[in-house]
Amino acid sequence: MDLWIQPCADCFELYGLPSAHRPHDKLTLNSRGAVKDERAEEHYTCVRCRAAFARVLAGEPRKQIWLLLNAGQH
Ligand SMILES: [Zn+2]
Repeated sequence: MDLWIQPCADCFELYGLPSAHRPHDKLTLNSRGAVKDERAEEHYTCVRCRAAFARVLAGEPRKQIWLLLNAGQH
């Protein structure tokens, strides 16, 4: 597993945006989550800063955002 990372500028901008927003060009798709109980996610990793993102594509609209999974933040 990756340690906590400092997101690069592109990741920092993407974090928290609606999932309709396109991934930036340093993100690579890891896996496409199985659709289950109306939930669907895509997981991405940034090749520059190793940030791990979950792109939430289903569920409540307010939760359909880009989640940054491994950055230290509060
Ligand atoms: Zn990054």
